[in-house]
This record gives sequence, structure tokens and C-alpha cells, in this order.
Amino acid sequence: MPPNCSSEDASWFEANLLAIGDFQIRLIRAGVYWWDGGAVFGVVPKTLWCSRLPSDELNRVPLGFNCYLIETAETVVLVETGGGVSFDARTRDRMCLPETVVPLRDWIARIGFDPSQIDMVVNSHLHWDHCSGNMQDGAATFPRATYFTQRAEWDYAHTRHPRDRVSYRDENYDSLVASGQMRLINGDCEIAPGIELKVAPGHNRDMMIVKATSRGETFCFFSDLIPTTQHVQPTWVAGFDLFPVTSIDTKIALLEMASREQWWCGFGHDTQVEFAKINVERGRYYSHAEIS
Ligand SMILES: [Zn+2]
Repeated sequence: MPPNCSSEDASWFEANLLAIGDFQIRLIRAGVYWWDGGAVFGVVPKTLWCSRLPSDELNRVPLGFNCYLIETAETVVLVETGGGVSFDARTRDRMCLPETVVPLRDWIARIGFDPSQIDMVVNSHLHWDHCSGNMQDGAATFPRATYFTQRAEWDYAHTRHPRDRVSYRDENYDSLVASGQMRLINGDCEIAPGIELKVAPGHNRDMMIVKATSRGETFCFFSDLIPTTQHVQPTWVAGFDLFPVTSIDTKIALLEMASREQWWCGFGHDTQVEFAKINVERGRYYSHAEIS
């Protein structure tokens, strides 16, 4: 079983730094949790997925709380804030989390950043595993940052649909919206030169991907549209997705662009791969994890 609280230290982060034009990009894997493999792979038979991502005796597979830090000459953008630290004993046991969960602030410190240096925070959507580090001790974890998410996602979070109401926790975002620190955006938006948020429906209606482009090179964070490199095949869609057929269509359109333009890609929950490129060959999609 891989370690839950990983051995990622300063040298690991340095080794895994990706330079895209003038931007520097780092993965911050803010912990690993274990979730039911059937939910993670939807209609894909276990006989196919388990050889690629082996499950434990409870049929769980490991998932990372993946956040990415994008540093440009002018700004520092944190994409996602992970699952937070508030877990009761039962939940920790169910998700195989360590007794003490490392707060995001400490993960950020490991790469030499202070929370006050973060200018912008992006929540691709508002499911708890992407935004529970927004707040700490009742205050914004990143005091100077402007937070961004889609207005339609925030509205939807409050509808409390029985299908996914357990995914939303108002305390992660409502006070930020009330204070004006979180900006609710409508559709695609460039939040800083070269850094674009684009609505990519499928996982849910209003989830965004994040594209960072500098001097002709692109990094794209796919969030839960492609949660792991195993989900690069368009039909390998998680059981969580509200609109699986839309996920397939959105993935095909984006992956063809990623392959053609040789984007570096990041994934919402992969525990092995920090950055990968995509190749499309005869209608099949491959991720190439090697950094050239
Ligand atoms: Zn997620």
C-alpha cells in the first residue's frame, strides 16, 4: 500500500517542477485517500481496471488530492485546495486516511510558499475534495487571494439534489462569496495573462478545466473530467459523473487538442503521474507520463 502522507519533500517538488514557457508549475498532492474502485471506474469491468490500478481487500483504489501551483512573472495561482483536514474517525477509516492529515498550508510551505503569497485560488468545481482547504479555522486559508469558481456551480451546490448533495459543504465557500473574496464567474474566463478557466461539462454541468499557456506551450489541468491517467480512454468514465456521455464528448474534443498541440496535462486524482502528454493513435488515447 503506498504511503498516505507521502514522502514528498522539497527535493521531490524541485524534481517535479514543470517549466512551460515563462511559467513554473508544481503538483501539490495534498494527501492520498482510498475510494471504491467501482465508483471510480463506472461501467468499466473490474477485470480491465484492476490490472492497471490494483484495489485493496475492500475494493478501494488510491486517489490523490491533487492541487497545482502555477507561478508566472506576475502572479501565483493555486488550482484546487484538496480535501481539508476535518475527518471523523469513521471517515478516516473508510478512506484510509492517516490520523493526522497535513493541512494545505503545510504542503504549500514545503515548496517554500507562504499562504499570503498566493494571489488567486481556483476551485474547478465545489465538490468537497477540491475545495475543503479554502478555509482554515474559520478564515480564508489564503488571505490575499481572489478565489474563483463558476456561478452556476455555486447555485447548483445549493439545490441539494439527492444525487450529489453529500459532495457539497457550504462552509468551504459561502463566507468567501459573502465577503467578496470569491468571484463567481459566468462561463470561460482569462483570470491572468495566459491562464484560462474553461467550462468542461460531464463530471457535472459546470466543472472547469484550467489552461495555462506561455510562449506557445500549454499545461492543462483536467480535474475530474480525467481524474487519473487511467481515465484518458474517453469511455473510461467514473461512476460519479452526472453526464457520462457528455464526459466522453468533452474528453474527445479536448484530448485531440492536447495531442495535436502536445500539452502537458495534470489530473485531479492520479497518485503516480504528475504531468503527462497525450497521444492519439488509431482512435486510442495514450498518456505518456515521462517528462522529456
Ligand atoms: Zn474530485
